[in-house]
Amino acid sequence: MSSIKDYEFWFVTGSQFLYGEETLKQVAKDSTAIAEALNNSPVIPCKVVFKPVVKTADEITSIVKEANYDDKCAGIITFMHTFSPSKMWINGLALLQKPYCHFHTQFNRQIPDKEIDMDFMNLNQSAHGDREHGFIGARMRMGRKIIAGYWQDEDIQEKIGSWMRAAVGAAESKKLKVMRFGDNMREVAVTEGDKIEVQKKLGWQVNTWPVGQLVDYISKVTDDELKALMDEYRSEYTFNFDEKDIETLEYQAKCEIAIKKMMDEEGCQAFSNTFQDLWGMKQLPGIASQHLMAKGYGYGGEGDWKVSALTYLLKKMSEGKTGGTSFMEDYTYDLTKGNELSLGAHMLEVCPSLAADKPKIEIHPLGIGGKEPPARLVFEGHEGKGIVTCLIDMGGRLRLICQDIECVKPIYEMPNLPVARVMWKAMPDLLTGAEAWILCGGAHHTVLSYDVTAEQLMDFARIMDIEFVHITKDTNLEELEKELFMLDVAWKLK
Ligand code: MN
Repeated sequence: MSSIKDYEFWFVTGSQFLYGEETLKQVAKDSTAIAEALNNSPVIPCKVVFKPVVKTADEITSIVKEANYDDKCAGIITFMHTFSPSKMWINGLALLQKPYCHFHTQFNRQIPDKEIDMDFMNLNQSAHGDREHGFIGARMRMGRKIIAGYWQDEDIQEKIGSWMRAAVGAAESKKLKVMRFGDNMREVAVTEGDKIEVQKKLGWQVNTWPVGQLVDYISKVTDDELKALMDEYRSEYTFNFDEKDIETLEYQAKCEIAIKKMMDEEGCQAFSNTFQDLWGMKQLPGIASQHLMAKGYGYGGEGDWKVSALTYLLKKMSEGKTGGTSFMEDYTYDLTKGNELSLGAHMLEVCPSLAADKPKIEIHPLGIGGKEPPARLVFEGHEGKGIVTCLIDMGGRLRLICQDIECVKPIYEMPNLPVARVMWKAMPDLLTGAEAWILCGGAHHTVLSYDVTAEQLMDFARIMDIEFVHITKDTNLEELEKELFMLDVAWKLK
């Protein structure tokens, strides 16, 4: 898998020849300093590469073409130190295929009271140069991120870093391959979708491989491979089962090794399976899927390839962060009046990156699927603010839904619940939040993340040109219904 650190963002400063050689030299010097400061910032996760100041339409067009064809380049950041007439930008921007951030800053923080003269003003005029640049972005209906602020301030650098993570999600999306074992669960609607439309919009290549091939790979796992992974399990988790049943865990380890091998051979970063198609397998993968998620792979249960892909992308966007991101399902509620909570879990497959404490490996029978009791990781999710998100196919377009949540320590022990569990308050409150989610058509499967923000998902949706709906602490159902109606009309016209 690629690393977020390998991606570059090109820092492109606009100007023109009007100002003369000296001023242009100074513009290049100042812009280099800004690009270097961003590149060295600990809150910026990717490389920032200074590009020579562009002064003509040809230079702009040529740098956009280069950016489009450079696989390492995940986006461009533009800044108008001086005035850069925007008709020069039209042909270039019309070709731009990479995420685009307009950084509205200036080299000096303060106006130098005694020293300021017309030369100073002509050199430091992003206040109007960036407005000219902003106009052409608006006029051309460019989806773009606009960030205003002083380039040395960490909160501003963090905004750029946050947007970069969304842009990396877009770059990863365009090359994402999902391995499906079996089809979607029979008769389920929300996990279905137009794979051609998804590939056209998001780039995801979603294809199927036979469960029989996986069974073959499982049977060929070597003793050395098995021992290495069992050692890993032993170092990371507590064994909470009778060791005479160790073969049950060994079977899961073999599943994990086999699935990973098949994915790596095909260049896939995410997979889905279903309990309805485990032909030749002894158990539904439990810890196998959980541990693969912990390693950064995407997963979706019941053939839900959309949520699997989304899990991978959110994990990639939050690479290096430690809050946790997982495939999730709204399972059941606690409707204590005034403190309503959602209990999220799955049959088995919740990523241990969410865990508050060291997860335990347990073996319990599974109520459905008719297979042997599988080994799985059991733990509680930790407290903290987060989001849940899902992607649904509205027929003709995709809708990305995001809801702000606040996870709490589960209020019950639930000693007979044999799976990992997370409890949260949905915003604005569970009941209004559930009404809003259902109104939007949100799925029961989601990705839960403590690391990825709603703003990043909005940035991602803008870059990919898909619909975005955000349920927040301020969501009002009447307004939301109107918003969904307007969005429906707008997306049909688009
Ligand atoms: Mn499910």
